[in-house]
Amino acid sequence: MSIIESNLQAVLRRIAAACEAAGRDRGSVALLAVSKTFPAARVREAFSAGQAQFGENYVQEGTEKIAEISDLPLTWHFIGPVQSNKTRPIAERFDWVHSVEREKIARRLADARPADRAPLNICLQVNVSGEASKSGVAPAEVRVLADHVRGIPRLRLRGLMAIPEPTPDEALQRSRFADLREIFNELNQVGFGLDTLSMGMSHDLEAAIAEGATMVRVGTAIFGERTAR
Ligand SMILES: *Cc1c(COP(=O)(O)O)cnc(C)c1O
Repeated sequence: MSIIESNLQAVLRRIAAACEAAGRDRGSVALLAVSKTFPAARVREAFSAGQAQFGENYVQEGTEKIAEISDLPLTWHFIGPVQSNKTRPIAERFDWVHSVEREKIARRLADARPADRAPLNICLQVNVSGEASKSGVAPAEVRVLADHVRGIPRLRLRGLMAIPEPTPDEALQRSRFADLREIFNELNQVGFGLDTLSMGMSHDLEAAIAEGATMVRVGTAIFGERTAR
């Protein structure tokens, strides 16, 4: 068994254990394998081991990798910061964008989405860590942004994403994820019909699943440590 295959199985066991501990159905949590900085050959290995959804942070690296392995039936998620001059390649190549924090970016993605492709799946990135993080829309502004984004053709608003500040403090991890889940529930109570709560990474996926994550984004625990880019 390759290292990637055994790592992947270990991550799947962690997800299963976290679901069990939380009394959740194992099928309610999807795994997104974050392949940034790793070559297409590693993605192929993960695919051979059963993984089909992959996340990338950088536009050029991601689009090159997607082109290199376009023979495989993979689903690609863009999870990095979206610059407005890079919306076209993202909208043309990816299936999901998790990191939308402004209406203008959403409109540019929609304008560039090819008409022959399914609507682009969108998550709004929320800044649940306050001043500790610069990325994401403020919790108080999510509702207004969600209202705008849901009306844009060629996009499908699926849910919310957050990257809380890294901390070994499990109670703090849980409280950040709980904040995101509450916003998610509030939006659904007023009819948004969201199905995706993208939260949890290699070091905190258990806390995220305990608080309701439906998709965890895992890089290091599958592909190994990244060297500085
Ligand atoms: C890199 C990255 C991940 C994966 O992080 P690991 O700690 O390697 O699991 C998840 N989400 C986002 C947005 C990332 O940039």
